[in-house]
This record gives sequence, C-alpha cells and structure tokens, in this order.
Amino acid sequence: MPNITSLITRRIKPICAVWEITLRCNSKCIHCGSKAGESRFNELNTNEALTLVKELNDCGYKGVALMGGEPLIREDWSKIAKEIKRYKMDLSIVTNGLNLIRQSHDLKRVKPDCVSLSLDGGTPKTHDHIRGFQGSFKKTLEAINVLKDLKIPTSVITSVNKINLKELNLIKNLLLDRSIAWQVQICVPIGRFPKELVINREEFYTLALFIAINQKKYSSRRLPLIGAHCLGHFSRFLPNLGLSPWVGCQAGLSVLGIQSNGDIKGCLTLPDEFIQGNVRTQSLKDILENLRSRKKQLPRKCINCDVVKSCRGHCLGTAYALKDFEDHYCLRTIEKELFNLEQLSIRGKLDSTYSKFKNFYYNLIIK
Ligand code: SF4
Ligand code: SF4
Repeated sequence: MPNITSLITRRIKPICAVWEITLRCNSKCIHCGSKAGESRFNELNTNEALTLVKELNDCGYKGVALMGGEPLIREDWSKIAKEIKRYKMDLSIVTNGLNLIRQSHDLKRVKPDCVSLSLDGGTPKTHDHIRGFQGSFKKTLEAINVLKDLKIPTSVITSVNKINLKELNLIKNLLLDRSIAWQVQICVPIGRFPKELVINREEFYTLALFIAINQKKYSSRRLPLIGAHCLGHFSRFLPNLGLSPWVGCQAGLSVLGIQSNGDIKGCLTLPDEFIQGNVRTQSLKDILENLRSRKKQLPRKCINCDVVKSCRGHCLGTAYALKDFEDHYCLRTIEKELFNLEQLSIRGKLDSTYSKFKNFYYNLIIK
C-alpha cells in the first residue's frame, strides 16, 4: 500500500452492490483479479443468497451486479436474479458470455437491466489468448447478437494491457453504431495478472487520449464510450472521461463488494485484508455500520494535490495493486511530469494536447 499520511471521513449512500455469486469459472483469463476457476469451498447456498437479496434491499441498495467467476454457470443464478428484480432493484450481470446462449431462455424471462460482456481484443487471436479459451472471441460476438435480439441493454468492458492496447481501434469498429456501451479500464497486477504486462504511464495517458478523442468524434448514441474508475478524472487538458463527475473512490460508500462465501468488502477489487465481516455471522446492516466508522486512507502522492478535496484520491483498488510501481497512475500527476510549463498553459484544449502527444498516440494506438 502507498504510504498513508492522511485520512478522510466516509459517508455511506448505498447504490450498487457488486456480488461474486460464485468463484467458479469456465474461462482462464490472464488478468483475472480473483484467480477464478474453482468454487470457494463454502459459497452461500440458495436460501442464504435469497436472504442476502432481502438484506440488500432493506439496507437501501438500488441495484445489484452479479458477477463471478462466471455467474451464468451457477445453477441457481436466475433464482437470485429474479429475487433482485422482485424487490425492484436494478439487475446487471457481468459475464464472459461463454454460457450465455445456453442461458438465453432464462435471461429473456429475468430481463436484466444490463448485461456486460468482456471483450479484450479486436481479433480472435488476442481475445482468446487473454481469456485463455479458444473460440471465446466468436462466442462473445455471438452472445452480443443474442442480447441484441432479446433487446437486453448490453455493454462491453475492455481491460487494457500491453497485449491489446493496439487493438482498441479494432474493438471500436466492432462496437460502433450498435448501441453498445463500452467501458475501458486498465489491467492491474492482482490475481493472475503479471506486473510486466501493465501499461506504463505514457501508455496510460495515451489510452485516456484515445477515449477523449473518440468521445469527441462520435456522439454518445453512436459510441457510448467511457473510462472506468481507474482512469479519466482531473486532467488539466482532457474532459472527464467517466460516466459522471469523479467524487472519489466509492468503495464502501455507494459501492459494496460481496464474495461468494458471504464476506463483505468495500469493493471486490480490494484485497482480503479489507473484509469487514460475513453475512453468515452478522447482519449486513451491522457490517455496514462498521464500514461507516472506518476512515478512508489517501495515497501519499495525493496529499499535496491542489484538487484533493474534490478528487478525494484515486481508485483504492488500483492504488493497492500498483503499490510497488514508481508511477502514480493519475492523469493530473502524469501531466505535471510529462509536460513543461508552456505546455501546461494550453490546458483544456484537447487538440493541442493531442498534437503534443501525437507520436505516442500514433505509435501506440494507430500503428
Ligand atoms: S494526485 Fe490524487 S488527489 Fe490529485 S488528482 Fe491525482 S488521484 Fe486525485
Ligand atoms: S476501489 Fe476502485 S473500483 Fe472500487 S469503488 Fe473504489 S474507485 Fe471504484
């Protein structure tokens, strides 16, 4: 963890619980943060899961995102999903898509508010290599078509690393004009993902430029593209790249992470030392009280930042994962290190920023 030199108080406002309903997975992605494969030995059973849905509703959560492992291979996934809908909470499902066609009948009945699929390459070779499953690219594209036929809102998540950075344009071409939301995030070295494949700060900045340029080029109807929590805020030059203005890491505030054995953390991206309790032995309400009384820690590099009061620090999960890296993966910090004072004075002008970065951009994204 980066050195901790400051603390800020927390205010809980429950919005979205992200729930790993099983750790079992039929894929073997090289970037899997939870090293999914086999089930946890003590995963919540159906009755415990249904009770937890009620608790989430009682605690005021507006939505639940089911994920894994691979959620659609848990036999009772649709029972849990239907219970979430019965309580009128929003339901989203994050899936690798491999088992989606087989589950399409249940998906049609459950009607999730959104299904998110992972697409990590613009070619079968790259996507299949990253996902560790031959034929995965084809199955993902077929799954997207099925979701479109079922009229289920669909989004795609791309986790960027040194292998697929150059395929962003190819992925874009697959998604353009299809009303598919596209979330881009970076791979960090947790779980199975090796440190050597993490993009460096120039690549990180170039990725942000890619998002900014394409957000400007295409309307959000043609390409609903956003940067995820780990990138896209408080640049001096680029607009906010996320869905909404950044108000600080939401782990344990509006976001909650639930492991398949009932362990609760502020966010699933955080390491196990952040587990706050287990729903088998405590009520969710009591665990949330405990979360409320904890203070959030700021990475040291943020302490003297001019916008720390608004930014409230970086994505905590990313900061932990990159704790051994010299670079701070923050656009504002990178700009200070890479641009000189004269360049800093062009703040707010995307075209000028692009011209300063065009060699990087050309080599990394276009070439
Ligand atoms: S240095 Fe920290 S507080 Fe400042 S913009 Fe970057 S992440 Fe936010
Ligand atoms: S740790 Fe990162 S992913 Fe999790 S809530 Fe915070 S910003 Fe979002």
